[in-house]
Amino acid sequence: MARIWRFESDFMKTQIEKLSKPIIEKVAIVGAGLGGLATAIALRKQGFDIHVYEKAQEFRPAGAGLTIAPNGLNCLAVIEQSIVEDLKRSGCDVRQGIFKKMTGETIAINPIRSRYLEKYGQPFLTIWWWRLQQILASKLPPEIIHLNHRCVGFEQNDNGVEIYFENGKKVYADLLVGADGLNSVVREKLIGDGKPHYVGSMIWRAVIKYNYELLKPDEIISIKGNKQIMRLLNVGDGYIFWAIRKLSSDFSVSDSATLAKSRVLNEVAEWEESLRGLVDATEAEQILEGPICDRPPLAHWSKGRVTLLGDAAHPMATSIGQGASTTFEDAYELAQCFSQSSSIEEALSSYEKRRIDRTQIIQTRSALADMRSYETDSETFSRQTQEQSQTPTGEEFLDWLYNYKPFMTA
Ligand SMILES: Cc1cc2nc3c(=O)[nH]c(=O)nc-3n(C[C@H](O)[C@H](O)[C@H](O)COP(=O)(O)OP(=O)(O)OC[C@H]3O[C@@H](n4cnc5c(N)ncnc54)[C@H](O)[C@@H]3O)c2cc1C
Repeated sequence: MARIWRFESDFMKTQIEKLSKPIIEKVAIVGAGLGGLATAIALRKQGFDIHVYEKAQEFRPAGAGLTIAPNGLNCLAVIEQSIVEDLKRSGCDVRQGIFKKMTGETIAINPIRSRYLEKYGQPFLTIWWWRLQQILASKLPPEIIHLNHRCVGFEQNDNGVEIYFENGKKVYADLLVGADGLNSVVREKLIGDGKPHYVGSMIWRAVIKYNYELLKPDEIISIKGNKQIMRLLNVGDGYIFWAIRKLSSDFSVSDSATLAKSRVLNEVAEWEESLRGLVDATEAEQILEGPICDRPPLAHWSKGRVTLLGDAAHPMATSIGQGASTTFEDAYELAQCFSQSSSIEEALSSYEKRRIDRTQIIQTRSALADMRSYETDSETFSRQTQEQSQTPTGEEFLDWLYNYKPFMTA
């Protein structure tokens, strides 16, 4: 009798241990960009053992300026409220958008802060990619971020994932999150759908220290040229970001920084002096030149113990400015799915259900908006953008996009 009782009690103990054991313990995230770091913060809060592996040897002042829209801010606020506070301090809370012709003439001034706060309960912020990366990294213990770790592949089985790095190291984890951007190695091994797709626009961009009256600290400026669009953003601390994109069938990249600079100067050769002067005042080495790319939407982006996030999962054209904001949505939802599921399979399937349809719509609308923005003259571009808020796309769509509140999606 006593033996039977002991057997049952041991059996119950094993069952209870099994049930109370978390479905994953160790998580490897490849990529310490905006998505990888935000995900690390969100998953650590669920008690998982997180390690982030980044190919760069150090965090350097690189990258573009970007906009963070209310949907992205809503998610960041739930992941960690202090990120939003730091972001507001370091970046720019945009009050108004100005539209100009390439001659410099102002066509329209569009209120942003009052409108966004009233409609979406959040401001519209602009910041330097690198500053945002620093803010996110500051919320994590430095020892969990492993620089100089370029992922080159992985193998998985029922018990775990083994991840390989160029420096010869390999690590084991219960879950691998590929947050390694547009040219994701994790995606290539997981899905194998080849190179990104050129959307039809070339872009030149730079972040520079520029003390110039052209752009007030709480403004953004859009200028419509001839099949070119320039944007000026304030990214904090006296730095501004300029980006010029151009409809172009040629997506080749210049052989040198000097050639890239002369190419973009050529684009603005007939533009008003102060606009052209901005490009002229930028050191050639600071100008990033490249094609704008996306990828066709995927029906699934997880297999077994591996999933994707951010640009690795759903890279998009830039004109709606949603790359980072949708990535923060992913980070929040992935962590939620792991806190609410009883198996990896259930967590990843529910993560895909919450994310794939929405991001497909945003990807498609971003590519469309990119092309449409070239089609009109500057007055129509400004009127459309003004009527429909920030981007040349529908008001109803923007309400759906910006009103995304993480706690409403469960
Ligand atoms: C010109 C331009 C303007 C943009 N403007 C906006 C905007 O206004 N608003 C907006 O929301 N978004 C914008 N974006 C997009 C935004 O920057 C990205 O969508 C966002 O950062 C996605 O985050 P991510 O973590 O997926 O990728 P990323 O931020 O690109 O990070 C990927 C990280 O992975 C690392 N990595 C890559 N390969 C490996 C590897 N093999 N091993 C280890 N590490 C690796 C990279 O070094 C990088 O740190 C813009 C993009 C561009 C190009």
